[in-house]
Amino acid sequence: MKIQTALLSVSDKTGIVEFAQALTQRGVRLLSTGGTAKLLAQAGLAVTEVAAHTGSPEILDGRVKTLHPKIHGGLLARRDSAAHLATLEDHGIDRIDMLVVNLYPFRETVAKLDCTFADAVENIDIGGPAMLRAAAKNHGTPEGGVTVVIDPADYQRVLADMDGPHGHPSYGLRLELATKTYAHTAAYDGAIAAYLSSLSVAEPVQDQAPERSTWPRTLTVQLKQQQVLRYGENPHQAAAFYVDQPIGAGLLGSYHQLQGKELSYNNIADADAAWECVRSFESTACVIVKHANPCGVALGDSPLHAYQQAFKTDPTSAFGGIIAFNRPVDGPTAQAISTQFVEVLLAPEYSSEALAIFAAKKNVRVLQVPLGDAQNAFDIKRVGGGWLVQNPDCLQVPQDEFKLVTAVAPSEQQMKDLMFAWKVAKYVKSNAIVFVGNGMTLGVGAGQMSRIDSARIASIKAENAGLVLAGSVVASDAFFPFRDGLDVVADAGATCVIQPGGSMRDDEVIAAANERGIAMVLTGARHFRH
Ligand code: 5GP
Repeated sequence: MKIQTALLSVSDKTGIVEFAQALTQRGVRLLSTGGTAKLLAQAGLAVTEVAAHTGSPEILDGRVKTLHPKIHGGLLARRDSAAHLATLEDHGIDRIDMLVVNLYPFRETVAKLDCTFADAVENIDIGGPAMLRAAAKNHGTPEGGVTVVIDPADYQRVLADMDGPHGHPSYGLRLELATKTYAHTAAYDGAIAAYLSSLSVAEPVQDQAPERSTWPRTLTVQLKQQQVLRYGENPHQAAAFYVDQPIGAGLLGSYHQLQGKELSYNNIADADAAWECVRSFESTACVIVKHANPCGVALGDSPLHAYQQAFKTDPTSAFGGIIAFNRPVDGPTAQAISTQFVEVLLAPEYSSEALAIFAAKKNVRVLQVPLGDAQNAFDIKRVGGGWLVQNPDCLQVPQDEFKLVTAVAPSEQQMKDLMFAWKVAKYVKSNAIVFVGNGMTLGVGAGQMSRIDSARIASIKAENAGLVLAGSVVASDAFFPFRDGLDVVADAGATCVIQPGGSMRDDEVIAAANERGIAMVLTGARHFRH
């Protein structure tokens, strides 16, 4: 069924004039609402105002524009029902074969903290979602139905289909666009519910910006399927990867896979851990992750140098690891990496020489992830029957707020290493103990139920890797509850410690540090990671 009439009513007017021109060239009659109609008419297009079409003027300051049987009948009549089409005839209603609508920018309006309550309410679109839901419902059958377009990015695809063999948008495209529409209207209503349920007062004043809580009482998220995964954490678990809409710049979800096998559930989880850690460094860094924990992190003069240093921390665990860089990967780095077994590589860019080297290793998954400083709006942990939701751990206590609590102070190089160790510890599962020397990890103790065991494991791992801990620095992600953990790192050779402090036995731990001639810096904030 060729498209005869299209109704265009958009708030985001990007590309609408060009699209309307293209529709006109294809013989489509245009109906439109106030602002959109004005724009199209200014561009010299023949357009009929909805008000003229229905014989009912826009009323109530635009609250009622398109809510009319001539519009909804035209959208909802089944194209394959003789009775429906006869009803349209009886009531003098024309079919509307295409609907182009995007909604009042509610989310953008309430994102401004000075938005008054009345403004927010006025930006709840009523006629738009009603038309969208009607058009999407009537996407029809292979023979015909309504095409619904909410995203200017789809204008070209619709035109291409109209120029294709059917002469009208295919059933597949209509169904896809209808699906997209319902996701959009659901998210739109979700945003309204989130806003209203975030109001801190029961009766907001109309012309004032109401106080809002960070945590709305209802939360709707819009996720898009990126990939159905072969399986989950284990082969008997089914799984899929969903990404935010839209994805913040710099987050893993915006990756582009350049080569290699399909990503698995564990690959994605570990890649995220590696990427989040590496992008937290300003200078050239390399992070190697295994089972969600860094097993080697280093800064370097070049990506190659950083990789070589990171690898030294724990060559055994680095086997089959996930390796991330915050700098473009060049040929020499690629050459060095290709001598080890690697599951996934992440970097903002790769030189053509590097890509040629990886091409010989077809299974290696090479991901390009743009750098950026976006953070997830919130972290989620699933528990039985609910979600635990929190802000991501973005706290960075400035160095000048650290407190030296011992007689001995760290040297300049030691202070740099303490900062580095402290940053790494944040990405290691608790209890985390991280030994560092000269910008590289020397031993990582992760995920133990007691801090002293993490300390022991970190020093054993350093010894296994043939690394010397004499003169090293140590970070602990949370306070030492007793002096025993400190004694373990001192025995191993550490001479400086960074930790949050805050234990009821801080005095005992600080006294132990002084006794052992260790410098100790307190950050005042912990970084548990579970
Ligand atoms: P325009 O700029 O063309 O005057 O308005 C376009 C906007 O109006 C679109 O975002 C569309 O969703 C919305 N809209 C269309 N019909 C109605 C209606 O009957 N009531 C309300 N509140 N909004 C409508």
